Amino acid sequence: MEINGISIEPGEQKSIEVNIGRLPSHASIDIVIHVARAVGDGPVLLLMGGLHGDEINGVEIIRRIMERKKNIPSRGTVICIPILNIFGFIHFSRYVPDGKDVNRSFPGNKNGSLAARVAYYLMKNIIPIIDYGIDFHTGGDDRFNFPQIRSMLNDKVNIKLAEAFHAPFTLHSQYRPKSLRQSAAKLGKHILVYEGGESSRFDEYAIEQGIHGTMRFMNYLNMSKSNPQPQYENIVIRRSSWIRAKNSGMFLSKVKCGEFVNKNQVVGHINDPFGEMNQTIKTRLSGNIIGLNNNPLVHQGDALMHIGIVN
Ligand SMILES: [Zn+2]
Repeated sequence: MEINGISIEPGEQKSIEVNIGRLPSHASIDIVIHVARAVGDGPVLLLMGGLHGDEINGVEIIRRIMERKKNIPSRGTVICIPILNIFGFIHFSRYVPDGKDVNRSFPGNKNGSLAARVAYYLMKNIIPIIDYGIDFHTGGDDRFNFPQIRSMLNDKVNIKLAEAFHAPFTLHSQYRPKSLRQSAAKLGKHILVYEGGESSRFDEYAIEQGIHGTMRFMNYLNMSKSNPQPQYENIVIRRSSWIRAKNSGMFLSKVKCGEFVNKNQVVGHINDPFGEMNQTIKTRLSGNIIGLNNNPLVHQGDALMHIGIVN
Protein backbone atom coordinates (compact mmCIF):
# COMPACT_ATOMS: atom_id res chain seq x y z
CA MET A 1 0.00 0.00 0.00
CA GLU A 2 1.23 3.47 -0.84
CA ILE A 3 -0.06 6.86 0.36
CA ASN A 4 1.55 10.12 -0.78
CA GLY A 5 4.58 8.22 -2.11
CA ILE A 6 5.19 6.46 1.22
CA SER A 7 4.81 2.69 1.24
CA ILE A 8 3.31 0.86 4.21
CA GLU A 9 4.21 -2.83 4.35
CA PRO A 10 2.27 -5.60 6.16
CA GLY A 11 2.90 -5.36 9.92
CA GLU A 12 3.91 -1.68 9.71
CA GLN A 13 2.37 1.46 11.22
CA LYS A 14 3.06 4.87 9.76
CA SER A 15 1.92 8.43 10.24
CA ILE A 16 1.83 10.30 6.93
CA GLU A 17 1.44 14.04 6.52
CA VAL A 18 -0.19 15.20 3.32
CA ASN A 19 0.01 18.85 2.36
CA ILE A 20 -3.41 20.11 1.30
CA GLY A 21 -2.79 23.86 1.19
CA ARG A 22 -1.40 26.96 2.84
CA LEU A 23 -2.80 29.73 4.99
CA PRO A 24 -2.26 33.32 3.82
CA SER A 25 0.37 33.48 6.59
CA HIS A 26 2.33 30.71 4.72
CA ALA A 27 1.59 28.13 7.42
CA SER A 28 1.27 24.83 5.65
CA ILE A 29 -1.96 22.87 6.14
CA ASP A 30 -1.37 19.13 6.40
CA ILE A 31 -3.77 16.23 6.83
CA VAL A 32 -2.34 13.58 9.15
CA ILE A 33 -3.13 10.03 8.08
CA HIS A 34 -2.26 7.14 10.38
CA VAL A 35 -2.04 3.72 8.77
CA ALA A 36 -1.83 0.45 10.72
CA ARG A 37 -1.39 -2.77 8.76
CA ALA A 38 -1.60 -6.30 10.12
CA VAL A 39 0.72 -8.99 8.80
CA GLY A 40 -2.30 -10.89 7.51
CA ASP A 41 -4.33 -9.77 4.55
CA GLY A 42 -7.85 -8.43 5.10
CA PRO A 43 -10.24 -5.52 4.58
CA VAL A 44 -9.15 -1.89 4.54
CA LEU A 45 -11.17 0.27 6.95
CA LEU A 46 -11.19 4.08 7.04
CA LEU A 47 -12.01 5.86 10.32
CA MET A 48 -12.46 9.54 9.64
CA GLY A 49 -13.42 12.58 11.73
CA GLY A 50 -13.62 16.32 11.27
CA LEU A 51 -15.07 16.38 7.75
CA HIS A 52 -17.03 19.18 9.41
CA GLY A 53 -14.25 20.96 11.28
CA ASP A 54 -16.20 21.79 14.46
CA GLU A 55 -17.63 18.28 14.98
CA ILE A 56 -15.01 17.25 17.48
CA ASN A 57 -16.53 14.14 19.09
CA GLY A 58 -15.32 12.14 16.09
CA VAL A 59 -11.82 13.59 16.44
CA GLU A 60 -11.77 12.41 20.07
CA ILE A 61 -13.23 8.98 19.17
CA ILE A 62 -10.37 8.33 16.74
CA ARG A 63 -7.78 9.81 19.13
CA ARG A 64 -8.88 7.42 21.90
CA ILE A 65 -9.01 4.44 19.52
CA MET A 66 -5.37 5.16 18.58
CA GLU A 67 -4.33 5.85 22.20
CA ARG A 68 -5.77 2.47 23.21
CA LYS A 69 -4.05 0.89 20.17
CA LYS A 70 -7.42 -0.45 19.03
CA ASN A 71 -6.67 0.76 15.51
CA ILE A 72 -4.04 -1.94 15.12
CA PRO A 73 -5.95 -4.69 13.34
CA SER A 74 -5.48 -8.45 13.67
CA ARG A 75 -5.86 -8.63 9.88
CA GLY A 76 -6.16 -6.06 7.12
CA THR A 77 -5.53 -2.33 7.44
CA VAL A 78 -6.99 0.57 9.42
CA ILE A 79 -6.52 4.09 8.03
CA CYS A 80 -7.25 6.82 10.61
CA ILE A 81 -7.83 10.42 9.58
CA PRO A 82 -8.80 12.18 12.84
CA ILE A 83 -9.30 15.59 11.18
CA LEU A 84 -10.06 15.87 7.47
CA ASN A 85 -11.11 19.53 7.39
CA ILE A 86 -8.09 21.10 9.13
CA PHE A 87 -9.20 24.56 7.94
CA GLY A 88 -12.55 24.26 9.74
CA PHE A 89 -10.96 22.66 12.81
CA ILE A 90 -8.61 25.58 13.44
CA HIS A 91 -11.42 28.09 12.79
CA PHE A 92 -14.00 26.25 15.01
CA SER A 93 -16.12 25.99 11.88
CA ARG A 94 -18.10 23.38 9.99
CA TYR A 95 -16.86 24.86 6.71
CA VAL A 96 -13.60 25.68 4.95
CA PRO A 97 -12.67 29.41 4.76
CA ASP A 98 -14.45 29.86 1.42
CA GLY A 99 -17.73 29.13 3.25
CA LYS A 100 -18.29 25.81 1.48
CA ASP A 101 -19.25 22.50 3.05
CA VAL A 102 -16.74 19.74 2.17
CA ASN A 103 -19.54 17.18 2.48
CA ARG A 104 -21.44 18.90 -0.34
CA SER A 105 -18.35 19.15 -2.57
CA PHE A 106 -17.73 15.51 -3.56
CA PRO A 107 -16.27 14.07 -5.73
CA GLY A 108 -14.28 17.29 -5.74
CA ASN A 109 -12.03 19.07 -8.18
CA LYS A 110 -8.24 19.31 -8.31
CA ASN A 111 -8.34 22.98 -9.30
CA GLY A 112 -11.50 23.93 -7.43
CA SER A 113 -12.12 25.83 -4.21
CA LEU A 114 -10.66 24.56 -0.94
CA ALA A 115 -13.68 22.35 -0.16
CA ALA A 116 -13.49 20.78 -3.63
CA ARG A 117 -9.74 20.20 -3.25
CA VAL A 118 -10.09 18.44 0.12
CA ALA A 119 -12.88 16.25 -1.33
CA TYR A 120 -10.80 15.55 -4.44
CA TYR A 121 -7.79 14.43 -2.39
CA LEU A 122 -9.92 11.95 -0.46
CA MET A 123 -11.71 10.59 -3.53
CA LYS A 124 -8.52 10.27 -5.56
CA ASN A 125 -6.14 8.84 -2.98
CA ILE A 126 -7.95 7.24 -0.06
CA ILE A 127 -11.45 6.07 -1.03
CA PRO A 128 -10.19 3.84 -3.93
CA ILE A 129 -7.97 1.82 -1.53
CA ILE A 130 -10.59 1.20 1.20
CA ASP A 131 -13.39 -1.35 1.48
CA TYR A 132 -15.33 0.16 4.39
CA GLY A 133 -15.46 3.43 6.27
CA ILE A 134 -16.96 5.13 9.30
CA ASP A 135 -17.38 8.89 8.98
CA PHE A 136 -17.86 10.50 12.41
CA HIS A 137 -20.18 13.51 12.76
CA THR A 138 -22.25 15.39 15.34
CA GLY A 139 -25.32 17.59 15.12
CA GLY A 140 -24.69 21.11 13.79
CA ASP A 141 -26.22 24.48 14.73
CA ASP A 142 -26.74 23.73 18.46
CA ARG A 143 -28.51 20.47 17.72
CA PHE A 144 -27.63 17.37 19.73
CA ASN A 145 -27.91 14.03 17.97
CA PHE A 146 -28.43 10.96 20.12
CA PRO A 147 -25.81 8.39 19.00
CA GLN A 148 -26.99 6.94 15.69
CA ILE A 149 -25.73 5.29 12.53
CA ARG A 150 -27.02 6.71 9.25
CA SER A 151 -26.99 4.48 6.22
CA MET A 152 -28.91 3.47 3.10
CA LEU A 153 -30.76 0.47 4.49
CA ASN A 154 -31.85 -0.85 1.10
CA ASP A 155 -28.36 -2.36 0.83
CA LYS A 156 -27.87 -5.75 2.55
CA VAL A 157 -24.20 -5.11 3.35
CA ASN A 158 -25.05 -1.76 4.97
CA ILE A 159 -27.75 -3.42 7.10
CA LYS A 160 -25.24 -6.01 8.36
CA LEU A 161 -22.59 -3.36 9.08
CA ALA A 162 -25.07 -1.14 10.96
CA GLU A 163 -26.23 -4.17 12.97
CA ALA A 164 -22.62 -4.95 13.83
CA PHE A 165 -21.94 -1.36 14.98
CA HIS A 166 -25.13 -1.53 17.11
CA ALA A 167 -25.55 2.16 17.93
CA PRO A 168 -28.61 3.06 20.04
CA PHE A 169 -30.36 4.04 16.77
CA THR A 170 -29.87 3.09 13.11
CA LEU A 171 -31.48 5.56 10.74
CA HIS A 172 -32.28 4.89 7.09
CA SER A 173 -30.83 7.89 5.32
CA GLN A 174 -30.91 8.68 1.60
CA TYR A 175 -27.70 9.83 -0.06
CA ARG A 176 -27.33 13.60 -0.09
CA PRO A 177 -26.14 14.97 -3.43
CA LYS A 178 -22.37 15.59 -3.57
CA SER A 179 -21.78 13.94 -0.17
CA LEU A 180 -18.90 11.59 0.63
CA ARG A 181 -21.36 8.74 1.23
CA GLN A 182 -22.89 9.14 -2.23
CA SER A 183 -19.56 9.45 -4.07
CA ALA A 184 -18.03 6.50 -2.20
CA ALA A 185 -21.10 4.33 -2.88
CA LYS A 186 -20.62 4.94 -6.62
CA LEU A 187 -17.20 3.29 -6.22
CA GLY A 188 -18.82 0.36 -4.37
CA LYS A 189 -17.46 1.41 -0.95
CA HIS A 190 -19.56 1.07 2.18
CA ILE A 191 -19.34 4.12 4.40
CA LEU A 192 -21.51 4.48 7.49
CA VAL A 193 -22.06 7.86 9.09
CA TYR A 194 -22.00 7.95 12.89
CA GLU A 195 -23.73 10.95 14.43
CA GLY A 196 -23.29 11.60 18.14
CA GLY A 197 -23.57 14.76 20.24
CA GLU A 198 -23.27 18.36 19.17
CA SER A 199 -20.63 20.47 17.38
CA SER A 200 -17.92 22.21 19.48
CA ARG A 201 -18.82 20.12 22.56
CA PHE A 202 -17.46 16.84 23.84
CA ASP A 203 -20.10 14.35 24.87
CA GLU A 204 -18.71 11.41 26.83
CA TYR A 205 -21.60 9.05 26.07
CA ALA A 206 -21.45 9.73 22.31
CA ILE A 207 -17.65 9.35 22.32
CA GLU A 208 -17.63 6.01 24.15
CA GLN A 209 -20.56 4.59 22.11
CA GLY A 210 -18.65 5.59 18.96
CA ILE A 211 -15.57 3.69 20.16
CA HIS A 212 -17.53 0.60 21.24
CA GLY A 213 -19.47 0.53 17.96
CA THR A 214 -16.24 0.76 15.97
CA MET A 215 -14.82 -2.19 17.95
CA ARG A 216 -17.94 -4.27 17.20
CA PHE A 217 -17.70 -3.25 13.53
CA MET A 218 -14.04 -4.35 13.38
CA ASN A 219 -14.90 -7.55 15.26
CA TYR A 220 -17.60 -8.33 12.66
CA LEU A 221 -14.96 -7.93 9.92
CA ASN A 222 -12.57 -10.22 11.88
CA MET A 223 -10.17 -7.31 12.30
CA SER A 224 -10.34 -7.15 16.11
CA LYS A 225 -10.97 -9.49 19.02
CA SER A 226 -12.44 -6.64 21.04
CA ASN A 227 -16.24 -6.93 21.17
CA PRO A 228 -17.82 -4.74 23.86
CA GLN A 229 -21.37 -5.82 24.70
CA PRO A 230 -23.98 -3.08 24.19
CA GLN A 231 -26.23 -2.14 27.12
CA TYR A 232 -29.18 -1.28 24.88
CA GLU A 233 -31.27 -2.47 21.94
CA ASN A 234 -30.37 -1.21 18.45
CA ILE A 235 -33.57 0.54 17.31
CA VAL A 236 -33.93 0.74 13.52
CA ILE A 237 -35.71 3.83 12.20
CA ARG A 238 -36.88 4.00 8.59
CA ARG A 239 -38.90 7.18 8.87
CA SER A 240 -38.30 10.36 10.80
CA SER A 241 -39.92 13.75 11.12
CA TRP A 242 -38.91 17.20 12.44
CA ILE A 243 -40.94 19.32 14.81
CA ARG A 244 -40.41 22.97 13.85
CA ALA A 245 -41.09 26.20 15.71
CA LYS A 246 -44.43 27.76 14.73
CA ASN A 247 -43.39 31.06 16.32
CA SER A 248 -40.17 32.85 17.14
CA GLY A 249 -39.36 32.97 20.84
CA MET A 250 -37.59 31.15 23.63
CA PHE A 251 -37.70 27.38 23.45
CA LEU A 252 -37.92 25.22 26.59
CA SER A 253 -37.75 21.47 26.06
CA LYS A 254 -39.70 19.14 28.37
CA VAL A 255 -37.96 16.02 27.10
CA LYS A 256 -34.48 14.57 26.82
CA CYS A 257 -32.73 13.40 23.70
CA GLY A 258 -33.13 9.64 23.18
CA GLU A 259 -36.45 9.52 25.08
CA PHE A 260 -39.60 7.87 23.69
CA VAL A 261 -42.55 10.24 23.29
CA ASN A 262 -46.22 9.45 22.63
CA LYS A 263 -48.50 11.10 20.10
CA ASN A 264 -49.98 14.36 21.48
CA GLN A 265 -47.47 14.48 24.36
CA VAL A 266 -46.37 17.95 25.47
CA VAL A 267 -42.66 18.08 24.59
CA GLY A 268 -41.86 21.75 25.12
CA HIS A 269 -42.92 25.39 25.11
CA ILE A 270 -42.10 28.51 23.16
CA ASN A 271 -42.49 31.73 25.19
CA ASP A 272 -41.76 35.26 24.21
CA PRO A 273 -39.58 37.31 26.56
CA PHE A 274 -42.46 39.75 27.29
CA GLY A 275 -44.96 37.32 28.79
CA GLU A 276 -47.41 37.79 25.91
CA MET A 277 -47.16 34.38 24.31
CA ASN A 278 -46.79 30.83 25.61
CA GLN A 279 -47.15 28.15 23.01
CA THR A 280 -47.32 24.48 23.94
CA ILE A 281 -45.56 22.08 21.58
CA LYS A 282 -47.05 18.63 21.13
CA THR A 283 -45.89 15.71 19.02
CA ARG A 284 -48.07 14.58 16.16
CA LEU A 285 -46.38 11.18 16.15
CA SER A 286 -45.02 8.59 18.57
CA GLY A 287 -41.32 7.84 18.45
CA ASN A 288 -37.87 8.42 19.88
CA ILE A 289 -36.22 11.81 20.01
CA ILE A 290 -33.04 11.32 18.00
CA GLY A 291 -32.08 15.00 17.71
CA LEU A 292 -32.81 17.99 19.95
CA ASN A 293 -32.18 21.72 19.57
CA ASN A 294 -30.22 23.16 22.52
CA ASN A 295 -30.42 26.82 21.49
CA PRO A 296 -33.05 28.60 23.64
CA LEU A 297 -33.60 31.32 21.04
CA VAL A 298 -35.58 30.10 18.02
CA HIS A 299 -37.07 31.63 14.90
CA GLN A 300 -40.25 30.39 13.29
CA GLY A 301 -39.49 27.38 11.14
CA ASP A 302 -36.38 26.38 13.11
CA ALA A 303 -35.95 22.66 13.77
CA LEU A 304 -36.71 21.86 17.42
CA MET A 305 -36.57 18.10 17.59
CA HIS A 306 -36.10 15.13 15.29
CA ILE A 307 -38.45 12.23 15.99
CA GLY A 308 -37.55 8.73 14.83
CA ILE A 309 -40.73 6.83 14.05
CA VAL A 310 -40.65 3.17 14.96
CA ASN A 311 -43.19 0.88 13.35
ZN1 LIG B 1 -21.23 16.74 10.15
